[in-house]
Amino acid sequence: MNYVSTRNKSGKMTAAQAIVRGLAPDGGLMTPELLPRLPGSALESMKTMSYQQRVVYVLSRFLEEFSARELTEFAAAAYGGGFSHPAVAPVRHLEDGLSCLELWHGPTCAFKDMALQMLPHLLSASLAKLDEEKTACILVATSGDTGKAALEGFKDVARTKILVFYPKDGVSDIQQLQMVTQAGGNVGVCAVVGNFDDAQAGVKRIFSDRALADTLAQRGYFLSSANSINWGRVLPQIVYYISAYCDLLQSEQIASGQEINVCVPTGNFGNILAGYYARQMGVPIKTLICASNQNNVLTDFIRTGIYDRNRPFYHTTSPSMDILVSSNLERLIFELSGREDGLVRGYMEQLADSGRYQVSAQLHKKIQELFAAGCCDDGQASRTIERVWRQFDYLIDPHTAVAFHVLEEYRASTGDDTPAVVVSTASPFKFCTSVLSALGVEEHRPGTEALDQLAQHTGVPIPTPLAALKGKARRFDAVTERDGMREQVLEFLR
Ligand SMILES: *Cc1c(COP(=O)(O)O)cnc(C)c1O
Repeated sequence: MNYVSTRNKSGKMTAAQAIVRGLAPDGGLMTPELLPRLPGSALESMKTMSYQQRVVYVLSRFLEEFSARELTEFAAAAYGGGFSHPAVAPVRHLEDGLSCLELWHGPTCAFKDMALQMLPHLLSASLAKLDEEKTACILVATSGDTGKAALEGFKDVARTKILVFYPKDGVSDIQQLQMVTQAGGNVGVCAVVGNFDDAQAGVKRIFSDRALADTLAQRGYFLSSANSINWGRVLPQIVYYISAYCDLLQSEQIASGQEINVCVPTGNFGNILAGYYARQMGVPIKTLICASNQNNVLTDFIRTGIYDRNRPFYHTTSPSMDILVSSNLERLIFELSGREDGLVRGYMEQLADSGRYQVSAQLHKKIQELFAAGCCDDGQASRTIERVWRQFDYLIDPHTAVAFHVLEEYRASTGDDTPAVVVSTASPFKFCTSVLSALGVEEHRPGTEALDQLAQHTGVPIPTPLAALKGKARRFDAVTERDGMREQVLEFLR
């Protein structure tokens, strides 16, 4: 199967090229030329498979250049020992018609692991298929979660190295500890004096530095990114929607062919887009409910057809959803406009020029047939954490709470009681302070002691990778001014 750009269907790439290049040359996103349909019996036959087998089944439909043997190896490496739950992405039953899909049993306890445990294997193998002899150096600027998930994914993967820059005073104690204790022979971590934008601007400058690229090429390296718009990050996410449906069938929560709704806490639109793809492949999903925090640009877009990023930016208790430009939305618009690449290009140019575009009435109607949307502020999220804990004895993080709240409002306003799956994107232990506050505990202990505090208060065990932070030695103490980032790269790739 070939891949095309959302802004120009005529230029085609293989899967390996799409994964190595990340972005199309015209700035569009690489997208499969045709979405494969699952055969009629597929969901029934996948019911009894392991998660890793489901991965191979689904990925093989998109990645013809990769053998079943390769994909089996990757699935074992990506979703093996690094995950603390044998089901990898288990579905937790809460009550009749309500379940939660837990995507945080990976090594960093957040949903980014689902994609970033797989992408490095796809990238490494793609480099081999393209006879690329240089080593890829992944450069990441992170506001916290992505950096750690990328480090865990790329650690000790052949043909790759990874260097992560984080803002010195812009990440939580736990996040910093997670990064500076990172294991692996091919990894580097460096603090940047400044905020996230400083770190990100520094990385962008390095990517456009031709002289640096030449020097690195002589040393056998090229720079690459593990951005969430890379097809190699979207694809592994399709699997867990299919897998969740199979699990609901297997546990007889639903009957074969019965429709479900899914509610997804959304930022860059990657996670929910994968749910859309699963639906188009044949999973009986009725409505995809897009849940936003106070940065509710997507709520407005889905309700009105107008995307407008000209609005205040809020720092919320669900920071991984603090986003005003949801890059992966471009892929949805491409699909729902009947793959009108000129139309997509026009909208994206308007977005770049004025921060705003309005889709056609016809396109808006299609979006509304498939999607519902809602938003949730910090106070509502906090009350939701407390209520879900009281009602179900179930501890959730602030991102997941946004989705629970939005689902509840959706059900109340529409009367739609289709069985629903809430997608849970982080362990509550990654956000101890917010969760403790929600449960009425106001005195918070510092650093890793907050983990114990939350465990003692709730009786819920600390996830192993977070508990293990306590005894770990710090490996990376480098700090640089923004101007010194280039030198850090040269030093790292000596
Ligand atoms: C990244 C992230 C999200 C948002 O996912 P998108 O794919 O960007 O929509 C939600 N919750 C958590 C915990 C995340 O890390």
